[in-house]
Amino acid sequence: MPTRTGGCLCGAVRYESGGEPRFSLLCHCRDCQRQSGAPHIAAVRMSAADFRIMRGTPRHYVTKSDSGNEVTRAFCGSCGTALYVQVSTRLDIVGVRVCTLDDPTWFRPEAHVFAKSAQPWDCLDPAVPRFETYPVGKSY
Ligand SMILES: [Zn+2]
Ligand SMILES: [Zn+2]
Repeated sequence: MPTRTGGCLCGAVRYESGGEPRFSLLCHCRDCQRQSGAPHIAAVRMSAADFRIMRGTPRHYVTKSDSGNEVTRAFCGSCGTALYVQVSTRLDIVGVRVCTLDDPTWFRPEAHVFAKSAQPWDCLDPAVPRFETYPVGKSY
């Protein structure tokens, strides 16, 4: 199982993530749009047991999802880089922001999620399945 490394823009927070993604997605929800300043974000749902912080301590910001779950967003307190997300109902999973990995090139999206709030000027690859919210059976 590969161990992938990543971190924030300033280097204060570094992490490593083992194993393979359980789900690879492009998220178009308004919260991800606001937090990133971009029309969508790329994320991989990884096993929390194989994820660890190697350096620094991320800060956390908690929001409520549409379904009422608490969504904890971890980011660097120095440079603001959004690093990963954890949902209160699935603490065994970490949603890692793909572009914070040292090598994001291997990512292959399986779904557009929250496509209902996709920006009309964003280009969505039609070959990737599109879900208005979140696909059933895949925890956010
Ligand atoms: Zn940083
Ligand atoms: Zn989102």
